[in-house]
Amino acid sequence: MKFNYTIEKPLIIAGPCAVESEKQIFSIAQAASSRGVKYLRGGAFKPRTSPRDFQGLGDVGVDLMRRAADAAGMKVVTEILELSSLERHYDKIDVVQIGGRSMTSYGLLKSVGVSTAADQKPVLLKRGLSSTVREFALAAQYILEKGNPNVIFCLRGIRTFEQIDSIFRFTPDFAGLLELREILAAEGMEDYPVVFDPSHSCGISKYVPEFAKAALALGADGLLVEYCIEPEKAKVDSRQCVDNLGFDKIMQYAANYSGNISR
Ligand code: PEP
Ligand code: MN
Repeated sequence: MKFNYTIEKPLIIAGPCAVESEKQIFSIAQAASSRGVKYLRGGAFKPRTSPRDFQGLGDVGVDLMRRAADAAGMKVVTEILELSSLERHYDKIDVVQIGGRSMTSYGLLKSVGVSTAADQKPVLLKRGLSSTVREFALAAQYILEKGNPNVIFCLRGIRTFEQIDSIFRFTPDFAGLLELREILAAEGMEDYPVVFDPSHSCGISKYVPEFAKAALALGADGLLVEYCIEPEKAKVDSRQCVDNLGFDKIMQYAANYSGNISR
């Protein structure tokens, strides 16, 4: 399998955790675009731990995001939890995100592979919270085998004993950047992009730029960053969302990107 979707490196995907309002997503899209970002992220269907928490705006959220991205000349990256959402919004989504909690939903992976095989729309697959790097690499095969070669891997931190007593939300899987490269190379997949999510792996906005810098130094092909104009107002993941200042720092690190160290 050969990855055949063209991306500029480092690939920067930025936006709020959840799409919350027209004003919010339009202002973030404009701010991100003015900083050179081409991919807008935002959840419309949120995989929340509690069903009592805000679940995202659903269909309305995808529509808002599409309009915000169009107004800013950006592409839409959004998570789907079930196939029907992708089918309903197929043409509005440029990159289909499969979240960490769904990485082992093999039925979903297969059906997304089938749905996207014809146009080979890229799928951003996040590592499961407690999955090994090998399991992560194998999960992607469920999509590839259905005929879509365009999987973008995203490391997003894992659960370790640190989470019992640590200020950080997850343990950053920096070593995973190197190990995944090894596994992919053994499969003849050295061209596959591996991006890093410093936001979920860290969980604290003031350290997110440093996590991003570390990932780029280790040769990540890009970053998935939660970025808001007013993080304190966010209903979801407010603590880890960087503001303009934090995001500018990240874009500075991205500007100094020197490429994949293991190639
Ligand atoms: C997200 O990126 O919005 C998200 C929910 O991340 P993860 O699946 O990695 O927890
Ligand atoms: Mn989030």
